[in-house]
Amino acid sequence: MSTSSSTVAVVGAGIAGLSAAIRLRIAGKEVIVFEQNSYTGGKVTAFEKEGFRFDMGPSLFTLPHLVDELFELAGKNPREYFNYHTHDEVCRYFWEDGTKLTLFPSIEKNVAAVSSVFGPSEGRKLFHYFEMARRKYDLTAPFFLEKSLHSARTFLTPKVLKVLAEIPKLGLFSTLNEENEKVFSEPKLVQLFNRYATYNGSSPYQTPGIMQMITHLEHSLGTHFPVGGMHEISQSLTRLAVELGVRFELDTRVEEFIIENHEITGLVAGEKIWTIDQLVCNSDVKYAYKHLMPKQVKRPKKTLAQEPSSSALIFYWGLSEQFPEMDLHNIIFSEDYREEFENIRTNGPFWEDPTVYIHISNRLEPGDAPENKDCWFVMVNTPYDQGQDWEAIVPLVREKVLERISNALGTAVGPLIEVEEVLRPQDIEKRTSSVGGALYGTSSNERMAAFLRHSNKSNSIKGLYFCGGSAHPGGGVPLCLLSGKIAAQWLVNDE
Ligand SMILES: Cc1cc2nc3c(=O)[nH]c(=O)nc-3n(C[C@H](O)[C@H](O)[C@H](O)COP(=O)(O)OP(=O)(O)OC[C@H]3O[C@@H](n4cnc5c(N)ncnc54)[C@H](O)[C@@H]3O)c2cc1C
Repeated sequence: MSTSSSTVAVVGAGIAGLSAAIRLRIAGKEVIVFEQNSYTGGKVTAFEKEGFRFDMGPSLFTLPHLVDELFELAGKNPREYFNYHTHDEVCRYFWEDGTKLTLFPSIEKNVAAVSSVFGPSEGRKLFHYFEMARRKYDLTAPFFLEKSLHSARTFLTPKVLKVLAEIPKLGLFSTLNEENEKVFSEPKLVQLFNRYATYNGSSPYQTPGIMQMITHLEHSLGTHFPVGGMHEISQSLTRLAVELGVRFELDTRVEEFIIENHEITGLVAGEKIWTIDQLVCNSDVKYAYKHLMPKQVKRPKKTLAQEPSSSALIFYWGLSEQFPEMDLHNIIFSEDYREEFENIRTNGPFWEDPTVYIHISNRLEPGDAPENKDCWFVMVNTPYDQGQDWEAIVPLVREKVLERISNALGTAVGPLIEVEEVLRPQDIEKRTSSVGGALYGTSSNERMAAFLRHSNKSNSIKGLYFCGGSAHPGGGVPLCLLSGKIAAQWLVNDE
C-alpha cells in the first residue's frame, strides 16, 4: 500500500462502487462507502422465498477475470473467496413455429448446430461472424472499454492509429441489425444475433454494428456462472473490502455533495456532515446531478440528455416441476422483433409480442430450488419507467409470457407456479436510484453514445469521480467493474 491516506467517500455500493473502493483501499486511502440500502451490491442482489433462491438482477456472467483481478491485486487467492462454473451451453433458443437451436461456447459446435437447423451455408457464415466479432472486440475493447475516453493518454499510442484505420470496418455507421443482415440470410439468425443489443439495454435497430463484438464474449471466451449465484459477485467483493479495511455506512443515504471553490470537501449523510478529500459517485449520473450536486455546479447538458437504457419486468417463479428441456439460459423469441423494439422505444404495447428470457439457476446450483422443482427468473424487456400504468401492464405481460412459454413447452406452466414475486421498472429505481429503472444506465442507441457517457472524472470539480452503469464505459457487471477501475486510476494518478 502507498502512504497517501486521504479520505475517499464512495457513494453507492454497486458493483462499480465496490470495485473502486477495493482499488482505492489497496492504494492506501481511507475509504468510506455510503450505501442507502441495508445491503451492498445494488442491482446484484438476491432473495429467498419458501425454499427457492433467486438472483434479483444480473444472470449472465462474462469476463470472470475482472472479478479475480481484484482479489489478486489484494494479494489473495480469488478461489478462496469466489468461484464459478464454466458451462458448456450458451443459450437455448425457441421460436413460435417450433424451431429450436442451442448454441455453445465453441465455434465448431455452433457451426454444426446451425448447419443442422438452418443448413450448411448458414453454418459456414458463423465462422466468419465470430471471427469478425473477435476482431472488433480485440481492436476496440482496450480503448473503448478498458481506458478512459476522456484522457489524452488513451489516444497517444500508435495502436490507436490501427483502430482509426479500421473504423470503416467496425460497423460504427450502420446498425447492428444492418450488419447482421449483411451476414445471415436466415431471419431467425439475424434476430438471434440482434439480441446482443439488449446486453446494454439498446435496440438492434438503432445501436451501431460494433456491438457485434459482444457475441465474442460468451461464444469464444466462455459462459460462466458463480458458485452460490450472481449475488456471490457482490458478496465476495464486500467480504474482501471489509477485510482490507473499507468502512461501510449502510442504511445511509447521501443527501448532498459539498463543493467549495470548485473542489469537493464533504458530503451530507445520515444528518451529519462528513469531511472528505475525494468522492467517487457510484450513483446514477442523472440522479446525482438532480439530487446531490449543489445548484451552482454546471450540468453536462449533452450527457444528461442521453436516453436511459431499457428496463425490464421480471417474474420470479418457483415451479412445482422441473423442465429438463430448459437450460441455464433460455430465450423464446417474439414473432416481430422490429415491432417489439419499436414498442419499447415509443412506449407502445410491448407486451403483445415480447421476447421472453428464462434463467434457471438451479441447473448449476441445485440448492436454489427444492428437489424436483425449478426456480425461474423470467424477464421481458420494457421501456424505462416514464409513469406508465404498470399495475395494468403487469397482468398483460404475465398472461402473454405464460402463453408463450406454455406453447414452447407444450405444458401449461401457470398452474405450476408455487412462489411468485415481480420486479417492475419503478422498483428498480426505488432500490438503486437508477433513473427510470434503467438496467444499464444510458442506452447505446446513438452512434456517439460511448463518447457522451459521463467521464469517470469531473472536468469542473476537483476531487470528484464517477463510476457505474451511467458513467464510462457503461452498464453490465464487467463494464461496471472496469468503470470502478478507471475512476480509481484517475483519482490515484491525480495525486
Ligand atoms: C433485472 C436486471 C438484469 C440484469 N442483467 C444483467 C446481466 O445478465 N448481466 C450483466 O452483466 N448485467 C446485467 N444487469 C445490469 C447490471 O446489474 C448493472 O449494470 C450493474 O450491476 C450496475 O452496477 P452499478 O455499479 O452501476 O450500480 P447499481 O447496481 O446501480 O448500484 C448503485 C448503488 O448506489 C446506491 N446509491 C445510489 N444513490 C445513493 C445515495 N444518494 N446514497 C447512498 N447510496 C446510493 C444504490 O442504493 C445502489 O446500491 C441487469 C440489471 C438488472 C436490474
